[in-house]
Amino acid sequence: MTTIDIVNPATEETISVLELLDATAVDEAVARATSAQRIWAALAPAERAERLRGFADTVAAHQGELADLEVSNSGHPIGQATWEAGHVRDVLEYYATAPERLSGRQIPVAGGIDITFAEPIGVIGVITPWNFPMTIAAWAFAPALAAGNAVLVKPAEWTPLTMLRLAELAVSAGLPDGLLQTLPGRGDVVGDALITHPGVGKVVFTGSTATGTRVMERAAESVTPVTLELGGKSANIVFADSDLERAAATAPYGVFDNAGQDCCARSRILVQRTVYDRFMELFEPAVAGVTVGDPRAESTEMGPLVSRAHWEKVSSYVPDDAPVAFRGSAPTGPGFWFPPTVLTPAASDRTVRDEIFGPVVTVQTFADEAEAIALANDTPYGLSGSIWTENLSRALRVTRAVAAGNLSVNSHSSVRYSTPFGGFKQSGIGRELGPDAPFAFTETKNVFIAVADA
Ligand code: NAD
Repeated sequence: MTTIDIVNPATEETISVLELLDATAVDEAVARATSAQRIWAALAPAERAERLRGFADTVAAHQGELADLEVSNSGHPIGQATWEAGHVRDVLEYYATAPERLSGRQIPVAGGIDITFAEPIGVIGVITPWNFPMTIAAWAFAPALAAGNAVLVKPAEWTPLTMLRLAELAVSAGLPDGLLQTLPGRGDVVGDALITHPGVGKVVFTGSTATGTRVMERAAESVTPVTLELGGKSANIVFADSDLERAAATAPYGVFDNAGQDCCARSRILVQRTVYDRFMELFEPAVAGVTVGDPRAESTEMGPLVSRAHWEKVSSYVPDDAPVAFRGSAPTGPGFWFPPTVLTPAASDRTVRDEIFGPVVTVQTFADEAEAIALANDTPYGLSGSIWTENLSRALRVTRAVAAGNLSVNSHSSVRYSTPFGGFKQSGIGRELGPDAPFAFTETKNVFIAVADA
């Protein structure tokens, strides 16, 4: 039996030892999910809606428990973890309206009637990363369930605890046994078995672009459709005509939230050259003001990195001779702590190119709008980004020109469950969230019914 130690990143204590499943367990899970899906899809739409609302209520009743679990498994600050558990509830509630709204179309044709049906795919495989274990899983399982599917979630090895609990809560809320299952295991074992299993009709993968490429290759062997939510290296573009105080005060939260372990992190700040000195003057105290510490404290804004291995990877980007402009603070002692770090490297440096996935941001300058757009797009990624300007026309020109899926103007907001989310270029394929997400978990069936002449 293979096991994994689940470690609290703030204390380095082992909080649980978990058995990792093997590929045989995936066969059993798919068989159970297939039976549960038939029961689920046969329920009246209003009944499925009611059960999903019940699941949302059950999650709400366990919000504190789920948040505490995420604090100890992932090191997320308690305020953030509480929001995450509440967000799962919100996503379920939002998609609970979908079963009664999954309409097909009636298309005018000669000789009869043509109608379309949005049929459930069947069993959906969901593979998640460790950075937002609950929310990212919910973005897939809530609309997939709403569309009449069963869902098997393979959580990241380091952070499986909240998703294991959510699957238990689904059963206690009255969802058919086996409809939503959590399968802890290695990516190349359980994840791979899900992708290649003939009983799994679609895979939603969120993780790195390197692994996503492999997932797409494996899925292609059986023409299994995929949604891919991959990496990012997003730009925060600050123009001279912006509210510079607000741009500088909020910039730390655009990149250091969740200790920078955020696919949407604005990890490249691009500042118009004429205001660079003033921006850095304002940015330095803002970075120093980020409260890094015990995730259980309500006042904490940033916790530790998720693991020792990840701490080593992030640290490798900040060697002793790194071009550090300034840094924030972090606790010493046990825990995978890393202070918010601001670098001013050359444009060709790997810190400007690679997704570091930690609290490290680079600052570069640009001369004009054209150069800002060119720099923002000089990356294989295209997930997110921010534009700071008081000029509405410029804001619209630049948002249309930046090749990324989720942009915000004078804000760092990326994710709302009611709006679509996903990446351009190597940041992914497909969209999650928003009103159309349940349709991503259906197949369109077209039916023509001949009508005989009288
Ligand atoms: P990762 O790619 O290492 O792992 C993601 C998941 O894939 C894990 O569950 C892992 O076990 C599994 N996996 C690994 N090898 C596999 C294989 N051969 N077959 C099937 N599954 C396999 O990513 P990570 O380090 O957990 O997460 C960080 C990455 O996720 C970053 O690149 C980040 O940008 C990305 N991310 C993207 C989004 C988005 O919505 N675009 C959101 C969050 C994170």
